[in-house]
Amino acid sequence: MRVLRLGTKGTDVMEIQALLRKIGYDPGPIDGIFGPQTQQAVMQFQRDNGLTPDGIIGPNTYRVLEPLLLGYATYEIRPGDTMYNLARRYYSSVLKIVTANPTVNPYNLQIGQQILIPYGIDVVDTNIDYTYEIMERDIQGLKARYPFLEVGIAGKSVLGKNLYYIRLGNGPNQVFYNGAHHALEWITSPLLMKFIENFAKAYMEERNIRGYDVRDIWDQSSIYIMPMVNPDGVDLVLNGLQRGNPFYEDLIRWNRGSLDFSEVWQANIRGVDLNHNYDALWQLSKEAEPLYGVYGPGPTRYSGPYPESEPESRAVADFTRRRNFRLVLAYHSQGEVIYWNFQNLAPPVARTIGELFSRVSGYTLDEAYGIASYAGYKDWFIQEYRRPGYTIEVGSGRNPLPIEQFDQIYNDNEELLLLAAVV
Ligand SMILES: [Zn+2]
Repeated sequence: MRVLRLGTKGTDVMEIQALLRKIGYDPGPIDGIFGPQTQQAVMQFQRDNGLTPDGIIGPNTYRVLEPLLLGYATYEIRPGDTMYNLARRYYSSVLKIVTANPTVNPYNLQIGQQILIPYGIDVVDTNIDYTYEIMERDIQGLKARYPFLEVGIAGKSVLGKNLYYIRLGNGPNQVFYNGAHHALEWITSPLLMKFIENFAKAYMEERNIRGYDVRDIWDQSSIYIMPMVNPDGVDLVLNGLQRGNPFYEDLIRWNRGSLDFSEVWQANIRGVDLNHNYDALWQLSKEAEPLYGVYGPGPTRYSGPYPESEPESRAVADFTRRRNFRLVLAYHSQGEVIYWNFQNLAPPVARTIGELFSRVSGYTLDEAYGIASYAGYKDWFIQEYRRPGYTIEVGSGRNPLPIEQFDQIYNDNEELLLLAAVV
């Protein structure tokens, strides 16, 4: 964590602003710019927490902020503590604490025992630029709160970032949702992360969501979610090109001399478009490249040297091969459209399910033609398994979609995400 102070800009500033807002301070607009209002809020936070009120987020202030970012505190039981009192002190609830500590007997707390206390705030923020680092911390925070979640790593990106997956449920009906194959389409990552949080919370509270019985889905299905297939690309788009990047010079060349990747870069960090890198009419995708002015690595549409040449696409394909998915959803933006077929290989039921998805989301059901329909993940899935596979293009406008569209997008897709697990 770098030191943040007046004048600092970045996604980390945005994250702190969102946190301050969430816990009752007023940092001004959540814009990633550490201005005077953010400084005031930091100073107030410091005063409230017995820190030197210098308005600078250095190691000491960060140490107090970090548990709040993770969403839980680690606490050592002292004489006289009860679950109820702890819950009150931390704005938590007895249910939250009991859930986060499955091996602790709430009626027999042991002095000196370490427990986790989730705060009364949600973990996943949906009003910020959602970087890999933020996602990683959110996954850690969710896993601590909801130990019944299975969290795993399906592989590594080119730059060694983890390709995380989270599994909801333990039933035999396996489905797979993934997001952010394309770097500019990172809004699909918080979409899936928020769904995980809401689903886990409803499971804990034994609540329904939109009339769907979450316990029932849990027993019936296993929902595997990989929220960020292309973390290196997302990082490049949101944090810019960093000096230490091993592809620094290449990336500038591949980006036609520009240092600004924030509105153009869809590919992974080697300039391969991951959703043109699967083994489904890959050769046609390759041959079509010159028609789009693509002659090698670049921001978009380069299919790579051969199918699954990239660690990210290979990890997703391997992950798929090792399981038995009845249905997959690949989340993209934008267009409010659902693509359901590939070379007429999808089974008839795929259209019926697609019509249901269309009805619950308000999105149009369509088929893709031309280069867009070759070598994508859902194309490969349909071709290999002849089972329902969908590309879902959320939101509308120009990529990257502004995070202000998040609530609408979540609202459009929540029932679809539930339905896909049981349909
Ligand atoms: Zn896309």
